[in-house]
Amino acid sequence: MSVHYFSPGPASLPESVRNQIKEELLDTFGIGVSVMEISHRSKQYEQLNEETQAIARKVFQVPATHSILFSPGGAQQHFSVVPKHLSAPGEEIAYTDTGVWAHLACEEVFALPRKVHLVFDGRTNDYVSLGNPQDWDIPQNSKFIHLTVNNTVYGTEYPTIPTFGNIPLVLDMTSSLAARTDIPWESTALVYASAQKNFGIAGVSVIIMNNDLLEKSREITKHNHLGKAHSYHAIYDAKSALNTPPVFSIFAMNRMLNWIDHSGGTPAMEQWSLEKAKMIYSEIDAGLYIGRTHKNCRSRHNFVFKLPTEEQDNHFIAEAAKHNLLEIKGYRCVGGIRVSMYNGVCMESASVFAEFMRDYRKKYG
Ligand code: PMP
Repeated sequence: MSVHYFSPGPASLPESVRNQIKEELLDTFGIGVSVMEISHRSKQYEQLNEETQAIARKVFQVPATHSILFSPGGAQQHFSVVPKHLSAPGEEIAYTDTGVWAHLACEEVFALPRKVHLVFDGRTNDYVSLGNPQDWDIPQNSKFIHLTVNNTVYGTEYPTIPTFGNIPLVLDMTSSLAARTDIPWESTALVYASAQKNFGIAGVSVIIMNNDLLEKSREITKHNHLGKAHSYHAIYDAKSALNTPPVFSIFAMNRMLNWIDHSGGTPAMEQWSLEKAKMIYSEIDAGLYIGRTHKNCRSRHNFVFKLPTEEQDNHFIAEAAKHNLLEIKGYRCVGGIRVSMYNGVCMESASVFAEFMRDYRKKYG
C-alpha cells in the first residue's frame, strides 16, 4: 500500500533511496558483509567515510574555511557542547528562544557559567513570530549568537538567515540543512544538525565549524570539563571515527546525500521546499484552516494549522488517514495539525495533500 507520510522526523526517505539501502544492505561492499558488521578501520569503511565527507561538503555547499565532522547521536547533545567550544567561563553569549528546541538549548546554557543574553524571547508571543532581528540588542563582545533556523514544532523559519556584523552565528539547522542555500558562511562559526529530517536517518549529527575557531577550541575546551569524545577537534583529528561510528546511519546519509546531489543539489531541494510550502499555505489561506504563525516567517518544512474546533482537527486527521495521509497530528504542547515536508517528501505527496485540504474544505467548510 502506498502511503504519504508527513512525519516531523525521522522523516520519509525517497523511494529510490529506501530501495537502494535494501538492495545494498546485506552485501554492501561486494565482500559478503553488511555495512552493519564491517570494521570501521577497514579500507571499505574508510572509503565510505571519506566519500561521505566529500558529498556532504558538496551538498551542504561548505567552503574551504570550514571543517565537517560527524558525531554520533542527535542534535540535542550539542546544545551544551557547542558553547563549550566557543566560549570560556564568564564570557558573554547571545541566545534566541524561538520554539521548543531553541528553548531547550537556552536552558542548557543558562546552567553554564556564562553571561547569557536572551535577545529574543518568543514565549512572549506564544512563538507565532521571530520578531525583527535587526532590533535585537546584542552585546558587541558576545562570542556568538545562537539561532534555530527552522522551528520544527511551531512552524516558523527565518526567510533569510540574519547576520549581526562581527558577531559569529551558531545555527541549529536540524530541520533546514540541505534545504537552504543562504548560509552566510563568512559570518558563521558553527552549524549543527542531526540527519533524520532532510539528509538521512537518526543516529548521526553533522557539525560544520570554522577552521580557525576549531583550532582555538583546543585551548577553550581545556577550561570547560569536556571529555575527549565530546570535543570537536578530537573527533575531527580522528576523521570522525573517534568512537566506533554509527556506521549504518553514515551509510544511509551517504545514499541520501547522493540522491540530493543527483537531483540537483541543495538549490533544487530549496526550490521544491518553497513550491511544496506554497501549495499548502495557499490552501491554509483559502479558508476554514487557521495558520498558526505570522506569514512573514512561515516554515518551508513544517506547516502548522488548526481547524475551528478540536473535534474538527481530529476529524480532519481521521479523514486524512483514510486517504493514507499519515502522521499529521500537531506536537503535544501545540495541538492542531502539523504537516512536515522535508527533502524526502516528493512533490506528488505535497499535491495529494493540498488536494485533500481543498476537498475537505469544500465538503466541511
Ligand atoms: N533542533 C531542532 C530544530 C529540531 O527540530 C530537533 C528535533 N526535532 C532537535 C534540535 C533535536 O534533535 P535530536 O532529536 O536529533 O536530538
